[in-house]
Amino acid sequence: MSNSIYPWQESSWQQLQTLRQRMPHAILFHGAAGIGKADFIEQFAQGLLCEDVRPDGHACGACASCGWFSQQNHPDYRRIRPEAMEDEPAAEGEEGEGEVKKAAKSKTPSKEIKIEQIRSLADFMNISTHRQGLRVVVLYPAEALNMPASNALLKTLEEPPPGTVFLLASNSLDRLLPTILSRCRKFALPMPNHAEALAWLKAQGVADADSWLREQGGAPLAALEQAESGSREDLETLLQLLAHPSVEGALKVADKLQKVPLGGPSSWLQRWLYDVFSYKLAGNIRYYPRYQKELASLADKIHVSRLLAAIKGANERRATADHPLSPKLFLEEMLLEYANCCS
Ligand SMILES: [Zn+2]
Repeated sequence: MSNSIYPWQESSWQQLQTLRQRMPHAILFHGAAGIGKADFIEQFAQGLLCEDVRPDGHACGACASCGWFSQQNHPDYRRIRPEAMEDEPAAEGEEGEGEVKKAAKSKTPSKEIKIEQIRSLADFMNISTHRQGLRVVVLYPAEALNMPASNALLKTLEEPPPGTVFLLASNSLDRLLPTILSRCRKFALPMPNHAEALAWLKAQGVADADSWLREQGGAPLAALEQAESGSREDLETLLQLLAHPSVEGALKVADKLQKVPLGGPSSWLQRWLYDVFSYKLAGNIRYYPRYQKELASLADKIHVSRLLAAIKGANERRATADHPLSPKLFLEEMLLEYANCCS
């Protein structure tokens, strides 16, 4: 792990260091998706555990604690996230998490944080820490906690074990239990401004960085992920159809994109419809400015009530995109509905 934070997080980092004098037992970091919250809190966790922390709060990167941390086997550190986010589920979890991992292996990795994962913290919190230091739990995204897991976590937060710090991150506070919110110190992490995010994205070697960034609403890590997933051509295929809708075209594109993970096309359509809507209402385009001409003509043509119905439909469809019965059918329905809405 690199020993740095993102350029747009510098002032947040400094602000956070002032909390170290009297560490809250739980901090909830919040902000838009794709701005680097998880990396930020992992950096902070490493700094809290480091045996030779630098004056600016960054970990030294050289002590035993930093060594364990970078190997993901620090005895006083646990990271809790949905199984779907683990790159190498088999390599981790030698201590205590083994059973959870084994059970999950045979199925599709879960996108939820489950109660077993929270329960596995009980043993961890009962043994004494290495050199009487802090114990750190990082958990994200907090909205992935299912209801039983939320309740289990709440119990822990209500009676915090001494010397333990919980660092949570969330993309949407309104999806968390109010009782969890009230037990955490909230800490907002900023969205970088466009120039800052663009400079960073270009430095990562992303071609066409400006388009990627706009399409991800300005969130640089989300833009990087999209750019690296190689879906540029698929996106263009879809946008061409959205710009020039037809029934025949809808069926062709559905056929062409059926192998693409559906989260992509369904969120691209969502954003496209938002752009049409926002252009109609306020003359603004957020995601696809290079399609201004087409967006303007659609905004002119589609009645606002049909547009709202299409947005509602797209939002509902996005929610089921991870588990379609048939990808091709899913796309056909989605695109035919859109073509009808525009006719
Ligand atoms: Zn260190």
